[in-house]
Amino acid sequence: MQAFTQYTPTRIVFGKDTEQQAGSLAKQMGATRVFVIYGGGSVVRSGLLERVTTSLSEAGLEWMAAGGVKPNPRLSFARECVEKSKEFGTDFVLAIGGGSVIDTGKAIAHGTANPDTDIWDFWTGKQKVTRSLPVGVVLTLSAAGSETSDSAVLTDEETHEKRGMATDFNRPAFAIMNPELTFTLPKYQVGCGIVDICMHTLDRYFTKSEHNELTDEIAEGLLRTVIRNGKTAIKDAHNYDAMSELMWAGSLSHNGLTGLGAQKDFAVHQLGHELSSRFDLAHGASLSAVWESWALYVYQEKPERFAQYARRVWNVREDDTEKAALEGIWQTVDYFKSLDMPTCFGEAEGVGVQSDETLHAMAHSCTYGGVRTIGSFHVCDEEDIYKIYKMANK
Ligand code: NAP
Ligand code: FE
Repeated sequence: MQAFTQYTPTRIVFGKDTEQQAGSLAKQMGATRVFVIYGGGSVVRSGLLERVTTSLSEAGLEWMAAGGVKPNPRLSFARECVEKSKEFGTDFVLAIGGGSVIDTGKAIAHGTANPDTDIWDFWTGKQKVTRSLPVGVVLTLSAAGSETSDSAVLTDEETHEKRGMATDFNRPAFAIMNPELTFTLPKYQVGCGIVDICMHTLDRYFTKSEHNELTDEIAEGLLRTVIRNGKTAIKDAHNYDAMSELMWAGSLSHNGLTGLGAQKDFAVHQLGHELSSRFDLAHGASLSAVWESWALYVYQEKPERFAQYARRVWNVREDDTEKAALEGIWQTVDYFKSLDMPTCFGEAEGVGVQSDETLHAMAHSCTYGGVRTIGSFHVCDEEDIYKIYKMANK
């Protein structure tokens, strides 16, 4: 086990009707003027926005609400919200939605607390976040895990750059999780969520680090739980028990727990970001579209690790390491297919088979113009990335 620091300060409030506590929780955490951020309207239609803002008013808090966050959230919109938030005198940000809304909320908190800094400087690494405002979350979609994670992802729509940024200042102050709020999700979003939850653990699980029994067991248990309950949830998004398991797993999968003491990989996330920023593909779909190709490209680095995954997560009964490793990959791909998730470019909404020139351009952009590699299980340079994209380009 490698040395680690675990910092998960988010207060989790889980269960039916918990959104009614939004006002009292924000007040307990020192809020007086709350900037409420939401997406394209699902929370208006469901009446959730109304319920939450009523609870803020009942707690005696001033608030202003701004809607319009799009999936794969845009830098320009976050900048506009920062200006509104500064004008309002925000001291607490409340995000109501999924990962896109929460990440925009984190950007608003950083921008408001640092009025003289352009927020993109935090994402490009030019500036470090050294102060921010607290962010509360009312979660409506089990997927990104942003409600407890230290990360936030934004897209500069002008340059097609999608970037994640990690800092402890990204950890929300509280996360309200009522699984009933996810009942209105379309099947496609449930599927994207299941893939993303699995991938936050898989991107940590495929590591060369050794001797990490407890972390391995936690990761494997989480994956089995998500796979099992995902089968129910994809057919019936009103199943409270299945949606509860996905919601809790979504948070645990990305708060750091499933990779403690081991080196992370996260190449699949980086590969997927290129598809989302260029083709506006949903995040979960961008991950399933490249996973098979990534896995086939890298598994020989350490086939025993893939064989362990196959045996413990998919119950593969195969003594031969190579065969077991491959069987685990096929089981995963078949599972993604059963969720109607794409497993190559041709199946991904709005993507399709690309020219060789585009694949090279994507690989170049994925390395930020040739200045970085991705992953650690197999360190991928621009040529590796191009080859993985080529395998997925069918
Ligand atoms: P999302 O982009 O936040 O939302 C996807 C869609 O689901 C939106 O159209 C939204 O509609 C709809 N939706 C949300 N809740 C709903 C509900 N209860 N009923 C009906 N529709 C609902 O999806 P996400 O997968 O949670 O977030 C994806 C983003 O997070 C990506 O940008 C990804 O890169 C990022 N991400 C962040 C982290 C992190 O740690 N920060 C980790 C992984 C991924 P409305 O807009 O109308 O609400
Ligand atoms: Fe993700």
